[in-house]
Amino acid sequence: MSQVKLLIPLFLRGDKTSFFMLYSLLEDRKQKVMVINLVYRACFDGASRGNPGEAGAGAVIYDEEGRPIWEFSRALGKKTNNEAEYSALIFLLEEIRARKLKYVQISGDSKLVVNQVNGLWKVNKPHLKELFLKAKELKKQTESVLQWVPRDLNAHADALSNRAFEKEDEDRHLTAFDASNLEKITDQIYIAHGTEDYAVDLLHRNCSCPFFQRKKDCKHFRAALSLESR
Ligand SMILES: [Zn+2]
Repeated sequence: MSQVKLLIPLFLRGDKTSFFMLYSLLEDRKQKVMVINLVYRACFDGASRGNPGEAGAGAVIYDEEGRPIWEFSRALGKKTNNEAEYSALIFLLEEIRARKLKYVQISGDSKLVVNQVNGLWKVNKPHLKELFLKAKELKKQTESVLQWVPRDLNAHADALSNRAFEKEDEDRHLTAFDASNLEKITDQIYIAHGTEDYAVDLLHRNCSCPFFQRKKDCKHFRAALSLESR
């Protein structure tokens, strides 16, 4: 006799009626039923600026109480949107496997990735085939459940995939600014000439660029500081 695994997601746990209907339906058909509560939830998201363009992956695993136990954010280099989505799912599934978790309820907002890995849509693009096979195998190993959710319900993973860009932006903004583009106005005030001009004030530790306003540091300020200390 074959055994049917009845996977109960968290949101159905309180709904005894539909649960027992399913259970008795399977018992009537002389099926051996194994009830499995899905305890862990997880989300993933991938993003690409330009498609293909600079891409990032984000993912998170929650415990039964909905507390994040693992948050992930990584820059991927130049990728398409679908490649980034697949990469995010693969990173997540690898973590689930490494933690020896099973029956994780995974959600993502990519219809293509969710439907392909669930076997509903065909994979036509050769560059996605390899990623698809890897994700499918990992999903099988971890016996995870994959579902599509609308984008606004995937905000946490979305924020994590975007954080990958922020880290890169930060690196770019703090790389050396050519000091020959600094025009000395007074003793401690400079104008940094570039695509846009910014005022650097060493005395009051300020630069008018948007990056400095957020991070209290920038390449213009660093360049002016290096001139001063010469
Ligand atoms: Zn600045």
